[in-house]
Amino acid sequence: MIINLEESEFSYDKLIKAARSLVKQYDSILKCVTIGESHDSRDIILLKLGLGQKCIVCCGGVHARETINPIVLLRIIEYYADLYINYRQQRINLMKKLSDPTVHLKDEYEQMLYGACIYELLQTYTILFVPLVNPDGFMIAQQGFASIRDVQLRHSCMSMNSTNTDWKGNARGVDINRNFPSLFWKSKFEGDYPASENETKALIRLFHEYKSIGFLDFHSRGRTIYYYRNKMPDSYNKRQLELATRLCEVTGYALNLPEEEIDLGDSGGNTVHYYSENFNKPALTIETVEEVADFPLDEQYRITTFRELKLLISEFGSMLHLGSK
Ligand SMILES: [Zn+2]
Repeated sequence: MIINLEESEFSYDKLIKAARSLVKQYDSILKCVTIGESHDSRDIILLKLGLGQKCIVCCGGVHARETINPIVLLRIIEYYADLYINYRQQRINLMKKLSDPTVHLKDEYEQMLYGACIYELLQTYTILFVPLVNPDGFMIAQQGFASIRDVQLRHSCMSMNSTNTDWKGNARGVDINRNFPSLFWKSKFEGDYPASENETKALIRLFHEYKSIGFLDFHSRGRTIYYYRNKMPDSYNKRQLELATRLCEVTGYALNLPEEEIDLGDSGGNTVHYYSENFNKPALTIETVEEVADFPLDEQYRITTFRELKLLISEFGSMLHLGSK
């Protein structure tokens, strides 16, 4: 296993190294490309898993302090890739055992069925994972402001009246999830304009380059799912509700109410606003980790979040697949 969820430290460098190791191990179905560079010169990477023509986008780490999801997404890539590669062999082994009626095979059979689902999923789709949209923020949240190498950026971060463990923005202190051009976007400080940040531009480029049919953006906290998009028509929101309701069943997460989409007085400009308004395709915000969790988030949440998201992502793919037939 390359991604060990119990390992304590998971820096940006380690995450990149792990991603490269995954590509080496599963090179027949996994590719890695760089889609942009953060303001403190860290690569923003895209991992493309699968052989399908259709694409689904999954991203994490937009908010700096939400440090669980990037690692969990890498582990899911490994888990799916492993199931895919081993599925054929497993099937052959199971067939052999089936000829012996005395062998109890329920667990193995269920495992093979799940393997078959993932196998089909990755034949149908390429899942585009951007596990860490905001690498500078990820480093600030975990290792402090000293991890910002550019002196000017570092000093400006330190003057911003936030502790590193509560940090949400990038190395320029901008919240990426309020930086996407959308109908709800509004200026929050002098000189603020949409898509001003490298991280935002990288995701926008990706959205336009790969014609995807659905988007999941992973945040923390709450164990909830946001589905409602005020600026989108009823027919769009009806489909969103169907998808979100099923994903809540699979994970035990709660559904957020339409009025909770944007807090009173807050700006829009989220990833999901941009995606839904520009492509008219499903876009859900998934909030992992219990609402009561403190920052920095306890590493124990990696294990439970992995269990929840591996089901959620495959179920999302299956539903889109059925919907497109
Ligand atoms: Zn967030």
